[in-house]
Amino acid sequence: MGVEVFGKVFLHLTEFKVNCIRRETKIEAKTKFGCGTFSVVGPLKGKPGKFGNKALFCGSYRCDRCRNPKLKRVRARIGEIATKHKLQRMATLTLDPKRVPRGQRTDRYIRECWREMRNSLAREYGESLDFVGVLEFHKNKVAHLHVLVGRYIPQAWLSRAWESVGGGRVVDIRYVDVHRVSAYLAVYLAGEKVMRTLELLPKRARIFTTSRSIVLWGKKQKGTWWLRRKGLSELYDATEKPENVRFEAVDDLKAFRLELLSYFESPPLQEAIGNRNVIGVLKAAIPVWKAGTS
Ligand SMILES: [Zn+2]
Repeated sequence: MGVEVFGKVFLHLTEFKVNCIRRETKIEAKTKFGCGTFSVVGPLKGKPGKFGNKALFCGSYRCDRCRNPKLKRVRARIGEIATKHKLQRMATLTLDPKRVPRGQRTDRYIRECWREMRNSLAREYGESLDFVGVLEFHKNKVAHLHVLVGRYIPQAWLSRAWESVGGGRVVDIRYVDVHRVSAYLAVYLAGEKVMRTLELLPKRARIFTTSRSIVLWGKKQKGTWWLRRKGLSELYDATEKPENVRFEAVDDLKAFRLELLSYFESPPLQEAIGNRNVIGVLKAAIPVWKAGTS
């Protein structure tokens, strides 16, 4: 199948599907941010004269398009972290529903318990504990917490400590092979499970929690790329000869057997530069283009 033909076909159809969060607002999609409605553009390292043009996805776990790819990345990332910090124990902390104060959300309550618990652990071991935690709900909608930690903690001690911070008696801690952490997490961090967790959580609440020593996602590098408030298909249409065109099989378009234009390379485009200073843009691009070519 010719990618370009497929691309063109899809491009016109996608005009109506660009905004996967607010599907009804087709007209607004051009100016308001939605998943895939804008692009990012910039010079490519080691490729003199070439720009990369990338569709900007929202990257939210709540987005049907972004959830599964992002979960895949987060599982791999936690795998890396587990290896680096030797997080080889998985503790599961379960709330006793009777201990949750009336009217209090269980996810909020379990976070408070966990905060206290960290203090107990720090006192016991004389240092703060490295961890990555994932929040989940049982079928009865009571929150529980899976926490990867780097240290052997006797189950009996953990249970007593969890009880004394108000959590309950039910805890489990087991050894996990550090090389299999991301496979192990696949069970807890599957698309549907996360979706269910998010449905039960307030909008801004997070499913992951980490110790200060661990950064789940590093800060994005401030680079030479910029945001363009245009869909990637518009930029694509303005390109004579797009190269390395990539499509992504996104979940929300699978039913239509469509793939989403996600990336292409081209010479600097007026459409991509917009009303930026062309000379300035090119000047900034030169060191990037030169990098890696020597
Ligand atoms: Zn999205």
